[in-house]
Amino acid sequence: MPKAKETVLEIDLKALKHNFEYLKSKLQNNTKILAVVKAFAYGSDANDIAHFLQNLKVDYFAVAYVKEGVALRDAGITTPILVLHPQAVNFKTLIDRCLEPSLYSAKILNEFIAAASEAKQTHYPIHLKFNTGLNRLGFWENDVDYISSVLKTTQAVKVKSVFSHLAASEDFDEQDFTRHQIETFKSIADNVTKSLGYPPMLHIANTSGILNYPDAHFDMVRTGIGLYGFGNSEEENKHLLPVATLKSVISQIHLIEKGETVGYNRAYTSSGFEKTATIPIGHADGIGRQYGNQKGFVTIGDKKAPIIGNVCMDMLMVNITGIDCREGDEVIFFGTNPTASEFAATAHTISYEIITAISQRVKRIILK
Ligand SMILES: *Cc1c(COP(=O)(O)O)cnc(C)c1O
Repeated sequence: MPKAKETVLEIDLKALKHNFEYLKSKLQNNTKILAVVKAFAYGSDANDIAHFLQNLKVDYFAVAYVKEGVALRDAGITTPILVLHPQAVNFKTLIDRCLEPSLYSAKILNEFIAAASEAKQTHYPIHLKFNTGLNRLGFWENDVDYISSVLKTTQAVKVKSVFSHLAASEDFDEQDFTRHQIETFKSIADNVTKSLGYPPMLHIANTSGILNYPDAHFDMVRTGIGLYGFGNSEEENKHLLPVATLKSVISQIHLIEKGETVGYNRAYTSSGFEKTATIPIGHADGIGRQYGNQKGFVTIGDKKAPIIGNVCMDMLMVNITGIDCREGDEVIFFGTNPTASEFAATAHTISYEIITAISQRVKRIILK
């Protein structure tokens, strides 16, 4: 891999392929696979990732918002795209771009039927989202009769899938709760199938659901974090490869005396003769202030250099006392060592948050 000459996020498509194939190896042959590419494919690059997965014959994509689906269509993605959290104001665009809505309440169902009818659609594919315990989005189990009464009045839409989302599929202490969600989902699915008179596709498992609940894959699984290299457990992480590596360079080195301070608000005070390095990445790039004040660290060669003082908007400073390095040398934030998950843990957060936080200002480099 080439040495970084500026702040870059490297995206390793070989790692993505490995993860895709690993996750696929966990599925029955006829189970479909939906790749979640919301939030710029978890902070990497939605277009490149989606094209690559489309070539690997992924069955479906999911994004959170209509705007994200439009961007994929603009980039030439033709695979079906489920929009997990659309708003009615965007329904015309959604239909124009052949995106498929998740509908989760009476209000949004009626609004979508109105929009589809207005656009003279018949059998437009919709996905019904049910709440089985996450209490975030979704119809309730006892809404099935209402939904079927509404659907009987229109030809504008057709239910392509029924789905739900697990609240704690990675958490072994919550197995009873997860089992209960799965059972509730089965009963909802039976009721919906009976009242529709045809079987929609069923799906509930996210990445940890795929790995921990092999009997709950139903017709399709939805994987996000696993594709990007994280399995939500140390054991599973061994089988997956991180796709994104965040690197930067040393812009400047300073030698400071004991008692001198570093950065805004003089938050760090040198305890002796010390060497510091300034790195061109800050909280506007996604390394938040919670990583400052010696919580987070960067890796230079095989040495750890703690982030000192307050993280600035466009840069941060690290303590490189005792580390043999020069201006222009590469520094690593996360990748294979440490992983984004390990880096995130220094600020008491998770891989999902740090990888999706890397802002669009950081240059993406696609490694083929
Ligand atoms: C984000 C999301 C996923 C992906 O979950 P991972 O844990 O990243 O695999 C799946 N389903 C829904 C509804 C989501 O919002």
